[in-house]
Amino acid sequence: MGSFQKEATVVDWDDKERGNRVGDGSPNQGLKFGCTVCKHYVRRSWSELAPLSIARLFARDLARRLRCTRCGKREGYVMTWAWGPGD
Ligand SMILES: [Zn+2]
Repeated sequence: MGSFQKEATVVDWDDKERGNRVGDGSPNQGLKFGCTVCKHYVRRSWSELAPLSIARLFARDLARRLRCTRCGKREGYVMTWAWGPGD
């Protein structure tokens, strides 16, 4: 599990820096979207995300678009990472 993971990059909705474009970098197999309020999160692979055309967005800009499906807050974060076969 852990040995397959690269360092994850987390960008919050209120970060001062906008981060990288979420489609940049490899290996970057997908994105994790989370809520800083209730800790709810989902992960999506790039094959699932492709129809959304979000790869060129900066991480913080994307985080600001998120609305939590559990608690309804708009205080999300975006994590770009690669996860391994055991994760
Ligand atoms: Zn939430």
